[in-house]
Amino acid sequence: MSDIFVPPPVDELFREDSHLTECVARIVAVDARGVRLDRTVFYPQGGGQAGDAGELLRADGTRIAIADTRKGDTPGEIVHVPAAEQADTLAQLRPGDTVTARIDWARRQRHMRFHTATHLLCALVPHPVDGCSITASYARLDFHMNEALDKDALTAGIARLVAEAHPVRHRWIADAELDADPTLVRSMSVQPPRGSGRVRLLEIDGVDRQPCGGTHVANTSEVGAVVVTKIEKKSAMTRRVVLGFAA
Ligand SMILES: [Zn+2]
Repeated sequence: MSDIFVPPPVDELFREDSHLTECVARIVAVDARGVRLDRTVFYPQGGGQAGDAGELLRADGTRIAIADTRKGDTPGEIVHVPAAEQADTLAQLRPGDTVTARIDWARRQRHMRFHTATHLLCALVPHPVDGCSITASYARLDFHMNEALDKDALTAGIARLVAEAHPVRHRWIADAELDADPTLVRSMSVQPPRGSGRVRLLEIDGVDRQPCGGTHVANTSEVGAVVVTKIEKKSAMTRRVVLGFAA
């Protein structure tokens, strides 16, 4: 659930405010892969969380549907990937043009609810994480452990933490502060990024605290009715917990 952060050429507005649904931005470049903007509210796939979908609105009212968001080849680069069959509209885009970048908020909210729920799960299962995937329809978290897990007990534990309505916050800490407290690192598969001098720390008071660049709800109460739908033994030392929204 961690994510790479280096000082970006693109202003990543979602890092400070995950509740922003749109922003005005300038086009930096358009190529076969997609559209790059000078600032964006679109979260690029990373740290296990799916990329955002949405649309770019031009001043003349035309729209470009965005199917996905990915990181580019250089650190801090974000590519807005257009949906198919929009070549004519894309050909009209010019660097410097102003657009309104608007995410599919309903979809993102599902990502944020699931993502925050995975932090609650980390609080309930005190084992290292060695895999994570967060989509709009399910989330899964792989724990490095061989003990059995109880589906109903975990669902009840999540419901309790949701009902307790804990605030969810982030703050930036220095690399040195992270190095001084190895207990902050829960993930085996994604090491917190080094080099930029600071790391984004996600904190749910009294519940969970770990480096994370993803998007979260502001209070655990907003996670709503999330349940454990499946527990799988993926290997001798891997237990996979799958989350879904209650029907
Ligand atoms: Zn997170």
